[in-house]
Amino acid sequence: MSKILVVAERKDNELRNVSFEAIAAAKKIDADAEVVGVVCGEDDLESLANDLIYHGADRAVTVKHDNLKTYTSEGYSQAILAVIEQESPDGIVMGHTSIGKDLSPKLASRLNTGLVSDVVDIEKDGDQPVFIRPIYSGKAFEKKVIKDGLTFVTIRPNNIAKLEEDPSRSGEIRSVDVDVKDLKTIVKEVIKKASDGVDLSEAKVVVAGGRGVKSKEGFKPLYELAEVLGGAVGASRGACDAEYCDYSLQIGQTGKVVTPDLYIAVGISGAIQHLAGMSNSKVIVAINKDPEANIFNIADYGIVGDLFEVVPMLIEELKKV
Ligand code: FAD
Repeated sequence: MSKILVVAERKDNELRNVSFEAIAAAKKIDADAEVVGVVCGEDDLESLANDLIYHGADRAVTVKHDNLKTYTSEGYSQAILAVIEQESPDGIVMGHTSIGKDLSPKLASRLNTGLVSDVVDIEKDGDQPVFIRPIYSGKAFEKKVIKDGLTFVTIRPNNIAKLEEDPSRSGEIRSVDVDVKDLKTIVKEVIKKASDGVDLSEAKVVVAGGRGVKSKEGFKPLYELAEVLGGAVGASRGACDAEYCDYSLQIGQTGKVVTPDLYIAVGISGAIQHLAGMSNSKVIVAINKDPEANIFNIADYGIVGDLFEVVPMLIEELKKV
């Protein structure tokens, strides 16, 4: 039986959904694998470790240290490498998030192993897992197999469904002591710019605004629509450059990549660089006054009209549901 380590990710005092999706991915790699969740932080790790077990991990390892309060690549790589040394896993899975994108190459180079990043699905060819990942900004997909060495992958959030939570599950929780030290960088303060609401990269619904929204004020109805739908607000680079919203909301080639169940593009033309960040969304709705706008070429549903009329109407109707 193989052993797969799942590196969990925290947001404040909760685990991010992608941590649970990574457990499901580990089971797709090898249904019989022993899945070991790893969670780092400075406090309250037991309940997070239990959460991993409830979502399918067989057991969990916690690494507690004051220097793990906030993520730093040095601190977290010291912690995870110590766990890897003790556990000798056959595979490692983590989220393809800002943290995963930073941490995984560092770990792979320290472990002298390869890495398949940004995996959106896993198929099987006999016993061999086949990893599917988008290339050319989402215009094509490639399939990769790992011939030997560690099976080290990062998975794109919102693509591999997490297993159903089962609070009756139990498993060993082991605490590992690691002296996380000699950090060259220390995070002194985190100043949040984005809203405290639903996390954009993990949101099931994204309402994104473009230059057509015309002002910061114009974004307010988009926040209302996102709230009614339980989603998050995103933006095109055009809207960010025009200072209608913060760059942390930017979706696209040089922004975040999102794969929600529903993406509503409001006043966005559909430039190729924007599509790179959202074209794999499951259902795309575009609202644009220009019937020739490129966004309609990839939209499942299109509304040709003035967003300042359409969005309030949508909010009003959805509030009735
Ligand atoms: P526009 O192209 O100006 O489109 C505005 C749209 O709003 C138009 O289609 C218009 O018809 C519509 N509109 C106007 N008024 C209304 C109204 N009242 N009602 C309804 N519709 C209305 N862009 C990204 O988004 N993300 C990236 O990551 C990104 N990376 C880039 C990287 C590079 C290297 C480069 C060169 C560019 C990048 N861009 C990126 C920029 C990209 O090329 C476009 O310039 C940008 O996406 C345009 O933003 P937009 O669609 O909001 O604006």
